Amino acid sequence: MGEHHCPKGIMQRFFITNEQIRGNKINFDREFAHQATRVLRLRKGNSILCIDPEGQTHQVVLSYLGKNQAYGEITESFTENKEPELEITLIQAIPKGDRWPYILQKCTELGVKAIQPLLSERTVFKYNEDRDSKKLERWRRIVKEAAEQSQRQMIPQVFPPTDLISLANILQQFDLVVFAWEEEKEKNLKKLYEAHENSEKIALIVGPEGGFSQREAELLTEAGGKAVALGPRILRSETAAVVLTAITLYQYGQMEVQR
Ligand code: SAH
Repeated sequence: MGEHHCPKGIMQRFFITNEQIRGNKINFDREFAHQATRVLRLRKGNSILCIDPEGQTHQVVLSYLGKNQAYGEITESFTENKEPELEITLIQAIPKGDRWPYILQKCTELGVKAIQPLLSERTVFKYNEDRDSKKLERWRRIVKEAAEQSQRQMIPQVFPPTDLISLANILQQFDLVVFAWEEEKEKNLKKLYEAHENSEKIALIVGPEGGFSQREAELLTEAGGKAVALGPRILRSETAAVVLTAITLYQYGQMEVQR
């Protein structure tokens, strides 16, 4: 493959910060230099795509790839827009084990705008603000890499975990709060979405392996959550998170390419 002829479709993508941009030069740190040379086997003269905090895409030719740093020059800048218009915040009770990283990755690929981890009555996962800040950093790295891989123009936010009481206060900011409840026997998603077709900011709430208690369901409903069933079968938490996100994006026309 000629050095400059790597088609844009398969060029590696990286989100960059404003601090890395100096005129038309982009600086990269040690971590990038290591990943670029060792893992991605990139070489001087190869081109990559860099997405800046405003969501602009820059094609960058690597002019120096050292052990501790690297830099390149912008050869072309352009606007892409693969972001959904619909803003989805996934409010997810953290399941145990690698189900949680799976949810972070899949829902980022699909297009959520933000993820709010939830510690509910039955979450097994334990989180301690100061001791576990490393976990939050890891979750954010998973989301950043998934956003790069899926060619997004922004990195979804991952907030520190919250509990159900504090959650009730933030639900007001959404046009629609969909609360997937495994005990719901009447209300279905289809009718709910038909009655809320102009929503622009939607929260999707999904419970942990153990589900939500009756009390939690009452709290969420009082706070404006609309309880809905996702069919008669019981889905795993990670299945419900992915399915609900995908159905919502599809329903609001966000899984189409411009014809
Ligand atoms: N403890 C429950 C399962 C909980 S599933 C049981 O075994 O019966 C985890 C989460 O996925 C639920 O809290 C809910 O948010 C969602 N979910 C799974 N299946 C669902 C369904 N059929 N309808 C609505 N939500 C569902």
